[in-house]
Amino acid sequence: MKKLNVSCIQRFSTGDGPGIRTTVFLKGCNLKCPWCHNPENISPEPQMLEYRNANKIVSYGKMMTVKEVVSDIMEDIEFYRAGDGGVTLSGGEPMLQYEAVSELCSELHKNGVTVIIDTAGCVPWENFVSVIDSADIFYYDYKTADDDAYKNICGGDKSLVLSNLCSLLSNKKSVHVRIPLIPGFNMSESDCENICADLLSAGAEYVDLLPFHRMGSSKYEALGLDYAYKKTTPPNAKTLTYIKNIYGKYFTVNIE
Ligand code: SF4
Repeated sequence: MKKLNVSCIQRFSTGDGPGIRTTVFLKGCNLKCPWCHNPENISPEPQMLEYRNANKIVSYGKMMTVKEVVSDIMEDIEFYRAGDGGVTLSGGEPMLQYEAVSELCSELHKNGVTVIIDTAGCVPWENFVSVIDSADIFYYDYKTADDDAYKNICGGDKSLVLSNLCSLLSNKKSVHVRIPLIPGFNMSESDCENICADLLSAGAEYVDLLPFHRMGSSKYEALGLDYAYKKTTPPNAKTLTYIKNIYGKYFTVNIE
């Protein structure tokens, strides 16, 4: 059986999809978004986070076989069966580990557990082909329509992200497009309109807006890293309504 580079397995999660879920965070990402709230999952290497104020050290990163991950997950099976719950694979970028992810999804399906894959989509389409039949839903980040900003700030190829989104939607997969709202990066009227134009061209109908927050701040400190967004203020209610109205002209919109 294949192995997964697992950062951590979080039980009874309520913020990563419907119902009660187990979220498997996979380690390693090919992007470098400076606002990332899971900085411990960017490097594929094992890492220790030292929370000095709490006198606590937490380690992230462990190779596990698919069988080990499934057996860990299945301890909570009754909670999945009780509602719309299931498993969410997040990261990091789960689609970098597509072969093991595909095997994991298939094993979970055999046990009646549904799977959401949370991806930024910046991987070769062939990676999606391997998992497209075994994943139930994709949560798909769309960060900007600006090719240069995506390349220079996030470190990826936006045209690949858009092309993969078009392909997923044309394969009739259930895709929730999720837009992180990052101050100074993608919140101006033109930023929003340009993202809408990209998403309309891909055939999206629904979007989730994810307002910036600083909940990952302490992790940067524990990793000994500077956090570029340490003093950035999350968008207020008026700004969120303004942005929601822009997206609302074209899509059904949900703010998380
Ligand atoms: S794609 Fe996600 S996990 Fe990767 S750096 Fe960006 S925000 Fe972090």
